[in-house]
Amino acid sequence: MDGKTKLKEAAKIIKASKYTMAFTGAGISVESGIPPFRGEKGLWNKYDPKVLELGYFLQNPSGSWHSIREIFYDFFADSKPNKAHEVLARMEGEKLLKAIVTQNIDNLHYEAGSKVVYEFHGNSKKLKCLECGELTDAADIGFKNIPPTCPKDGAVLKPDFIFFGEGIPEYAYEMSFIAAKKCEVCLIIGSTGEVTPAAFVPRTARDYGAKIIEINPEGSLFTNHITDIHLKGEAGAIMKELEKYLF
Ligand code: NAD
Repeated sequence: MDGKTKLKEAAKIIKASKYTMAFTGAGISVESGIPPFRGEKGLWNKYDPKVLELGYFLQNPSGSWHSIREIFYDFFADSKPNKAHEVLARMEGEKLLKAIVTQNIDNLHYEAGSKVVYEFHGNSKKLKCLECGELTDAADIGFKNIPPTCPKDGAVLKPDFIFFGEGIPEYAYEMSFIAAKKCEVCLIIGSTGEVTPAAFVPRTARDYGAKIIEINPEGSLFTNHITDIHLKGEAGAIMKELEKYLF
C-alpha cells in the first residue's frame, strides 16, 4: 500500500470503529519542541538519567532539581500543542476518539482541548510536597530557590510525574487498561514501545482484538509485531493528512 492508500484505509477503520483510543509517546511532542529521552537527539545524550531516579532525588534534591528545572521548566515551559494534539482533540469532539493514554508529562493534550486523558506517567505542571502531599502549581513556584519547597511546610517539592523506581498512578493505570480492553482501534503515536508497563497498553488492545494504527517516522517495537497500518512520518504532518480523510 502506498502512503495515501494507507491514510485512507486508516481513516476508514477509525470511522467504522465504535471505540478508538490513542496511545501517545514523546514523539507526538517533538514538533512542539520537546525532544524525546532516547535516540540521536534524545535528552539522555545531554543529561544523566539518574537525576530522575527516585533514590538519587531523595538523597540529592538540589543536584537533581538543577537538571529537572532546566529540562522541564526552563526549556519546555512555553511549548504549545502541535497539529497532532489538535487533531486528536477534534476527533474527541466529533466522537471519533474516546480516550487518550499518554506517556507524556507535558500537559499538551489538555492544552489542545482533549478531555479524556489518562496520564500514565503523571504531569509536570504540578509539584507534590514530599511531606504533606499537597500539590502546588509549578507556575506559582518561580524556581529561584532550588530545591523548591512547599509553601505550607517548607519540605522539598517533587514534580508530580513518576521517577524511575516509582509506580504508575493507580487511576490512570486502571483506566488505561479498561480502554485498551474495550477499544476496537488503537492509534499509537510516537512511541518506541520500550517503556513498560506503558507499552503493555497497546499490546493489550491488540490481544483483545483491536486494530493497531501507528504513526512514527521510524519503526518501533510495535511495528513488526502488532501494527496493522504504519503511517510513516512525523506526527503533525501525518495527522494533518489523516484529518482530511476523517472529516
Ligand atoms: P518514547 O517511547 O516516547 O519514544 C519516542 C518515539 O518518538 C520514537 O519511536 C521516535 O521514533 C518517535 N518520534 C520522533 N519524532 C517523532 C515525530 N515528529 N512524530 C512522531 N514520532 C516521532 O521514548 P522516550 O523518548 O525515551 O520517552 C520515554 C518516556 O519519557 C516517555 O514515555 C515519557 O514518559 C517521558 N518523556 C516525556 C516527554 C514529554 O512529556 N513530551 C518527553 C520525553 C520523555
